[in-house]
Amino acid sequence: MISEKISLTHPYACVGATSFGGRCRKMGQIDLTKPVGWVCPAHINSEDAPGPHTILIKFRIPREWARELEIAGIRNLGRPDLASQEAYHRAEAEKWGRKAEVGGVVASGTQVFGEDGIRGAHLSTLPTELFKAGLRLCQPDLARATKGKGQDHVLILPFSQIESGEEVSNLPPKVERVMESLFRATWRWGHIWANPPEEKKSWRITHTVNVSGMGDRTALQKDLLFARGLWSLRLIT
Ligand SMILES: [Zn+2]
Repeated sequence: MISEKISLTHPYACVGATSFGGRCRKMGQIDLTKPVGWVCPAHINSEDAPGPHTILIKFRIPREWARELEIAGIRNLGRPDLASQEAYHRAEAEKWGRKAEVGGVVASGTQVFGEDGIRGAHLSTLPTELFKAGLRLCQPDLARATKGKGQDHVLILPFSQIESGEEVSNLPPKVERVMESLFRATWRWGHIWANPPEEKKSWRITHTVNVSGMGDRTALQKDLLFARGLWSLRLIT
């Protein structure tokens, strides 16, 4: 029995570029049956927001998986320093004259699919799409999640334009197998952030894909598409 309300539209941020090379924060809707970009009235004649140099895909995983990945040689960065991260994001937002508080978090970027993000996301097409766009997997890391129990670790997979990072060529088979199952899974929650260029990263742009709730079923499942860095969704029928 499906109790979740089914909607064939989805909140979506304007694809227009801001004056500082970020993505507009104005929200509209896309039609999931024929997803095309949405643009706010101010950006009808503007360029599209520039694509990312790096995408950090962050999968929420159980502690046991994290332990096995650590044994296989993946570095664990431990618990991030939330206070200094928030201070940095707040300063970045203020630099560009943006509100720093977005949907209960401190951020300088744009939530591409709105404050509630995506329910029922699949990431299975992403590795191929990112490869075609010239982005390559660099060294993965583990970190402790800042909240939540059970699935309290995060596997971070950075995909970067090749000149900006070190491509990994031979990951341990255990890590490959875990990655395959993560990209095949359905994720109950997904949040995609398009961040502005960062001075401390030589003005390079990072996007973040955060997914959690592995394997939970939802009413409507959607493929997350890279779409040249603008991101889109396709209904899985
Ligand atoms: Zn706009």
